[in-house]
Amino acid sequence: MSLSPDLSGALAALLGPQGYASGADVPEATRTDASRSGQVLPLALLRPASVQEVSGALRLCHQHGQRVVVQGGMTGLAGGANPMAGEVALSLARLRGVEEIDAEAGLMVLRAGTVLEQAQAAAEAAGWHLPIDLGARGSCQIGGNIATNAGGVRVIRHGMTRDNLLGIEAVLADGTVLSHLNRSVKDNTGYDLRHLICGSEGTLAVVTRAVLRLLQHPTPVGKALCAQTDFTPGLGVLGLARAGATAFEAMWPEFFELNQRLLGREMFADLPGMVVLVETDEAALTPLLEAGFEAGLIGDALVARSGAEARSFWEIREAYAMDRAFPDLINLDVSLPQAAMADFAAACRSGVLARFPGAHVSVFGHVADGNLHLAMALPEGGGAAAHAAEGIVYDLVRAAGGSVSAEHGIGMLKRDWLGHSRSAAETDAMRAIKAALDPSGILNRGRVLGPS
Ligand SMILES: Cc1cc2nc3c(=O)[nH]c(=O)nc-3n(C[C@H](O)[C@H](O)[C@H](O)COP(=O)(O)OP(=O)(O)OC[C@H]3O[C@@H](n4cnc5c(N)ncnc54)[C@H](O)[C@@H]3O)c2cc1C
Repeated sequence: MSLSPDLSGALAALLGPQGYASGADVPEATRTDASRSGQVLPLALLRPASVQEVSGALRLCHQHGQRVVVQGGMTGLAGGANPMAGEVALSLARLRGVEEIDAEAGLMVLRAGTVLEQAQAAAEAAGWHLPIDLGARGSCQIGGNIATNAGGVRVIRHGMTRDNLLGIEAVLADGTVLSHLNRSVKDNTGYDLRHLICGSEGTLAVVTRAVLRLLQHPTPVGKALCAQTDFTPGLGVLGLARAGATAFEAMWPEFFELNQRLLGREMFADLPGMVVLVETDEAALTPLLEAGFEAGLIGDALVARSGAEARSFWEIREAYAMDRAFPDLINLDVSLPQAAMADFAAACRSGVLARFPGAHVSVFGHVADGNLHLAMALPEGGGAAAHAAEGIVYDLVRAAGGSVSAEHGIGMLKRDWLGHSRSAAETDAMRAIKAALDPSGILNRGRVLGPS
């Protein structure tokens, strides 16, 4: 399969040698995102360096009925940026850079291909703080964060990406540029296309620029690992911490034990029934811990006395060692009411272990925003077994009235389960929106909603 000579010639002429590669020149890295599930190389790689080039490239693809997959930093975990056979990939990597920081208004204007960490550093250098933060910060791009409405560890205090997005510029499948680089919080002028495109995972438009809200520098935070008997006292600590908390992460014992063992650490003399990592304003930490001990909610606590100690707490929670230890690790990302979490976690473990004896099943997550992650490694590996294990978990999510994707999106990997969280009427409305904005279905076809 290859591109028609007409189209490849026109794209090469539009984008130049740095902006166009095909055949053997297409890099391997375009094959898969961080889910490691992609297998196909795109027919060509388009790397536009301006919104005009994004628009021109899409117009050409639209005219030729050529399908396009959008690629940001490729850290996604839902397979949405993975090419399918016959697609070209459009990467935003060259459309990068912070254009402006408005120190009066507390906002930044930046291009979609800017890596999150670089955007954070630019904000810090200007005396401001960008509230979006996630573990993939060194590679993920602002455009990808917007396309997936990324969450992360600061959602409890600052909300999701959508909550920090003031304005957007994006290009529709036929090359039409929608520019609404709004700078104020208040803007009730018709349908909010910004929020429609945010979280649409590249199926409705390619994000090219954005205006993001910045915050004053946060007050210093204190961090503690608290040991509890089980999840209920953990929720009690959350109740005490909520007003001042900047992060709250619960770790079930199987998760905590595995990750501290892989890192060669032993944080508590006995393995606790639950461990929570709490970050609050520094001044609030000691009173919080005292109140927790007094109420019998906390059995033991470790307070970080240095940046290195704080990082050692986060290393356990970020679980990179676990990712490396299990190449076929299944990472699920669900949300459900806090009151249902303890029973849900127990039911997931027993359900998956009954079907796959010897599996590793562990639970952890942000909790305060309703988000839990499940990590599963099956003796049978991935494939059909993984799908069956996911089905066990997602059936329990549906029964608890939760969402099969709290943060990572639907992409390719969760399409089978969208109906567990969204009604037929809702998915029909989504299909109607997709058909209105991309009638030829050339942009990220088949992602989120599946084949039409
Ligand atoms: C270690 C690690 C930690 C993570 N932690 C979190 C976390 O805490 N919270 C969270 O929400 N996610 C997390 N993720 C998932 C991932 O980092 C986010 O989904 C991120 O927002 C994806 O950005 P990206 O630029 O890498 O996008 P990609 O992976 O390249 O693409 C993701 C989707 O967005 C589309 N897309 C990308 N750029 C654009 C654009 N400019 N316009 C339109 N569509 C576009 C793609 O087609 C694809 O469908 C984590 C991933 C890793 C590997």
